[in-house]
Amino acid sequence: MRATQAHINLDNLHENINIIKKYIKPSTKLCCAVKADGYGHGAVRVSVAALKAGASFLAVASISEGIELREAGIVAPILSLSLPLKDEIPSLIVHSITPLVFDTEFIDQLNEVAISMHRKIPVHLKIDTGMGRVGCSKEEAATLAKKIAFTEGLYLEGVCTHLACADSLLEDDIAYTKKQISNFSYAVEQIKKEGINPGILHCSNSGAIFLHPEAHFDMVRPGIVIYGYSSCAKEMGIELKPVMEFSSQIVAIKHFKKGDSVSYDRTWVAKEDCDIGVIPAGYADGLLRRLSPGLEVSINGRMYSIVGRICMDQCMVYLGKDYDVKRWDKVIFFGPEKNCNTAEDLANSIETISYEILCGVNKRVPRIYVDTDKNK
Ligand SMILES: *Cc1c(COP(=O)(O)O)cnc(C)c1O
Repeated sequence: MRATQAHINLDNLHENINIIKKYIKPSTKLCCAVKADGYGHGAVRVSVAALKAGASFLAVASISEGIELREAGIVAPILSLSLPLKDEIPSLIVHSITPLVFDTEFIDQLNEVAISMHRKIPVHLKIDTGMGRVGCSKEEAATLAKKIAFTEGLYLEGVCTHLACADSLLEDDIAYTKKQISNFSYAVEQIKKEGINPGILHCSNSGAIFLHPEAHFDMVRPGIVIYGYSSCAKEMGIELKPVMEFSSQIVAIKHFKKGDSVSYDRTWVAKEDCDIGVIPAGYADGLLRRLSPGLEVSINGRMYSIVGRICMDQCMVYLGKDYDVKRWDKVIFFGPEKNCNTAEDLANSIETISYEILCGVNKRVPRIYVDTDKNK
């Protein structure tokens, strides 16, 4: 197997879900976001582990992501968070993937196909309360709910919204989230006034789980937090466990003379004689090129700097003269251990978010699972 690997610790995932459970009522359902191949962790294994840990719904971004789970034998309800194309509707119905709806045209199309397939399928009505993405306005919600209730092929299983800045502790952001929650409650009240049961109400992403308990309603939709990250959790002193360790190995150690340069564009030149380690991981593995200069990696518990440009498939680490590294030693880019970076550290260094670092770990990196539960 390749030196560059992602170790996925599903025990940590289970523990993160247990932490979430401490913040929600026992009756509140869990819908775990496993889109983008489980945020890079492998959607099928993550889904099985999440269901075992108590999730009752899964959320994906596309029909094909839902199909992957169905083909792996997963029978739990699957919500698809993005809108499918019209010609994907039959496949959505065949695989029992639950769509979000928020406009009459799509409701009509879905209904038509469902009837033609002799099915009555669940849908969740999505309200845009301030995210500025998919969803109907809070004023349209009741009319659409009524429309769904009168269709032959659909039934309203839930009503939901999505929060734009729920993980922020800034005063303005907290006020904005509260406004979104009140817009959501308004829409739900209007639906109820029409005599329609709105079903499962849900709007919390990871941030809202810890910061906005009034946003929990009937179900929460954690994503990043099950993988061990969440900016607000950290600030609140909640200790999550990163699930992924992204690592490689030193495959060669080379001696460089003063003036020798490393990698493309010669951005790094040795100021004195030194040793350099070669690591077979690059931006095509998800080690973003803009992480260098600046990126430090952990080898035998000590941090060393990546020098020169990160290439597509390889990068180089400065060892200097006095170092405790041998050929084949393990190199950790990020992971849950104390003496290495987290995905959040890498993200912060290049002004992005842990999500992008995790999703960016390429398919060609083998995932190796640690799952002691499975052996019990
Ligand atoms: C991705 C997503 C989530 C999960 O978000 P996190 O910030 O990772 O918790 C929840 N709801 C919707 C609609 C999403 O798209």
